[in-house]
Amino acid sequence: SLVLQNLGISFGSKQVLRDVNLDVQPGQFVALVGPSGAGKSTLLRLVNGSHRPTNGTVSVLGVNPSTCGRRNLQRLRTRVGFVFQQFGLVGRLSAMENVLMGTLGSLRMPRYGISTYPKTLREKAVANLERVGLLDQRFQRCDTLSGGQQQRVAIARTLMQDAEIVLADEPVASLDPSASLAVLNTLKRLSAEDGFTVICSLHQVDLALQVSDRVVAVRNGSLILDTRTSDTSEEALRAIYEEAKGTRS
Ligand code: ATP
Ligand code: MG
Repeated sequence: SLVLQNLGISFGSKQVLRDVNLDVQPGQFVALVGPSGAGKSTLLRLVNGSHRPTNGTVSVLGVNPSTCGRRNLQRLRTRVGFVFQQFGLVGRLSAMENVLMGTLGSLRMPRYGISTYPKTLREKAVANLERVGLLDQRFQRCDTLSGGQQQRVAIARTLMQDAEIVLADEPVASLDPSASLAVLNTLKRLSAEDGFTVICSLHQVDLALQVSDRVVAVRNGSLILDTRTSDTSEEALRAIYEEAKGTRS
């Protein structure tokens, strides 16, 4: 569902990714790890067409985001969900309202609120809130929810798209370890239920090992490890971070 070939990108004279090759099968849960500045966020932005590669090609669900044209890019983005570290919710609105905002084509909350959405979408929003364990909190303002609950609202909002690929850029960076594990396990369960692919950047290597099928490590703009999760270890992944510390100028 996702193929990156000889992918490279430079910003000015700074080469941020080089010769990245990656082929992700539908339904896989890929953890993207690596030190700060390695290029993880840049890689995810190349996949959703926010950046144009300097070299090589990106194919997402059979579409090349940098040559497909604006309309096709918009269409592609409805098939690719994005979950951020900063949840991007509207704090003064309820969980339900935020989830409904994930509905295709509706960029903001209609002036007259939830009731203006068709019943089918309202039912889908409730079902998705239930799937992330927040049925009882659906009318609560998002700024009164815990960090982990807010991130689960953001995931429920992404589910409204019926995305085929979900890109998550450090979705648990601001959460404590137990909330982090709960959020990632929720994402994993949903991806198994719905069959969507997940590419999730993470700094916590223990969590990466617990939830992913495959681990890809980036350092200095290159993929330095690409393995089935069962074939690597916490020590091996920690070493990638330690070496980076040692070489930092
Ligand atoms: P972190 O773990 O801290 O989020 P990361 O692996 O996501 O790090 P990126 O955000 O992809 O790292 O950044 C990789 C490098 O590319 C950094 O040196 C960054 O400064 C540089 N970079 C990213 N975007 C741009 C840009 N638009 N212009 C110039 N440099 C950029
Ligand atoms: Mg990043």
